[in-house]
Amino acid sequence: MVRANVQRVAGWFYDGRRFRDGTIGWEDDVIVEVRQGRARNVIATGLIVPGLWNAHTHLGDALVTQELRGTIEELVAPPHGLKHRILAKAKDGAVVAAMRRAMATMLRTGTTGFSDFREGGLKGLKLLYAALAAMPLQGTALGRPAALAYDAKEVSAILRASDGVAVSSYVDWPSDQLGKLAAHVRRERKMFAIHCSERIREDIDKVLDLSPAFLVHMVQATDADLARCAEAGVPIVLCPRSNAFFGMTPDIPRLLRAGVELHLGTDNAMINTPSMLREMEFAYRIGRLKGGVSAKAIFEMALRARRLEDPKASVGIRVGERADLVVLDLPGGTSGFASMMRASASDVSLVVSGGVLWPGKGAVMPQPPRRRRSS
Ligand SMILES: [Zn+2]
Repeated sequence: MVRANVQRVAGWFYDGRRFRDGTIGWEDDVIVEVRQGRARNVIATGLIVPGLWNAHTHLGDALVTQELRGTIEELVAPPHGLKHRILAKAKDGAVVAAMRRAMATMLRTGTTGFSDFREGGLKGLKLLYAALAAMPLQGTALGRPAALAYDAKEVSAILRASDGVAVSSYVDWPSDQLGKLAAHVRRERKMFAIHCSERIREDIDKVLDLSPAFLVHMVQATDADLARCAEAGVPIVLCPRSNAFFGMTPDIPRLLRAGVELHLGTDNAMINTPSMLREMEFAYRIGRLKGGVSAKAIFEMALRARRLEDPKASVGIRVGERADLVVLDLPGGTSGFASMMRASASDVSLVVSGGVLWPGKGAVMPQPPRRRRSS
């Protein structure tokens, strides 16, 4: 078959297990060619990895730009933390522009998918979609009720407009209300996610009873808590830069030993820029503080959350997968994984997201914020 519209890149590509030398071709938004040997007509060469997946963001926080001082409670806990006070007062256009800026950062740094915990009820979701509309990115949008209370009508409306619901934490909610909320999400076969054991240890059995698709943090978890998550097959998203900001260090080697599936996320955009390259480097370093973890293990944490969106998706570059690719000007071969731990934004030479090149022809560049129509 002659394929006229195939675009190609060549170099050391990640096949799901190791780096191999070859050529990758895609047509529209699907990878159609993975083969050994370098083709001549390619648009870029280098180290080729699948688009990274940022497993946990709060992109709305990008609106908060000041230097931050204070505790988790003072800065991010609902309903009175600094971010909630600023978001409550913010103009819609400003929130959309801040999220779009954060999304552009993700694309520039090789991330093509993300899972966002969106505050602000149904309206908060609408702002996220307004920001996402112009960007070639895959976003899993997890909304939440505007208040810490269950209202069936509100939850139905949120679920119609989202991929699911994600809330702050078990201890923030009246437990009967949270139980009803999670049951509602389950009935509608959408995703329920929750932060867990970040600043204090929470009751893992009560949290797992909510049937979460994944948990975020688990820094205060005991070995027994982690074993329960491994048993239940519930992945844990780690956000080491966010934890470090609040004086905590997740023990990544211990989490890996417990057999839980680990993902990596950048958490609040006001605390960390949403660059998975930076998160990987930091995770690798703090892994060394606790005895060491392989570069490959950290790299896979930056890819795996794609499977929450599509359980059949591969973490490697394969024919039939979505054309999400990142080409970096870095050494490949057996150095590929180590290269990824040292990668920075300036090493990214091309990002392909759903077949759309970024930057380049066909990419939709972020627009300056439009004058708002209403607040
Ligand atoms: Zn979070």
